[in-house]
Amino acid sequence: MKKAGVAVANPSLHKCFSCDNNLLNKEIICNYCAAINDGDYNFFDILSLDVAFNLNNEEIEKNYLRLQKQVHPDNYSTKSKREQETAFKYSSLANEAYHILKNRRLRGEYILALSGIRVNSDRDNVLPPQELLREIFATRDHVQDAGNLTELMTISQENEKSLQKTFDDVSLYFQQNSLNHAASSLIKARYLEKIKEEINLKTRILQNESNPNH
Ligand SMILES: [Zn+2]
Repeated sequence: MKKAGVAVANPSLHKCFSCDNNLLNKEIICNYCAAINDGDYNFFDILSLDVAFNLNNEEIEKNYLRLQKQVHPDNYSTKSKREQETAFKYSSLANEAYHILKNRRLRGEYILALSGIRVNSDRDNVLPPQELLREIFATRDHVQDAGNLTELMTISQENEKSLQKTFDDVSLYFQQNSLNHAASSLIKARYLEKIKEEINLKTRILQNESNPNH
């Protein structure tokens, strides 16, 4: 707890409520006494990951499964009500953290949110540039006007390339700590993902037209 007028040497230092040992890596489960600790943890803390855009999907999954096993209600049936409730809370938060962090766009948006920058929400504080909107509207028109699957395939390949390039940009901007640029690229990524959905929908429509019996 932060006290007014008292310098906090290490504000991220947490102590285990049960044995008072330091939780150096903000562990939820104490390494010394195995008590479950509640605290001000973000999704990266919860899954024992560094706050970073470039993460290994296998590591995210491995840490998620380990935590779900640790906080399973069976492990807390004989523990205090406090620990039971904390375990329940982190089981649910682990699901939420896994859902967000395994998706590269949502992960990027979450990192920005930790710095107070909101994108792709209904309370955005970064707006898409006009040039991007024009580009997106033009691509949408191309999708709508595509008359056959070959044409649509070409648009789809271009869109995939653009999406990959955009996420490469996001990665670079995060490495440079250029958060506003990362924000703009994540907005672009979301538009390109929407176009991808529109392409998939249009593909099914064209396939049905060419195979009316299916
Ligand atoms: Zn402990």
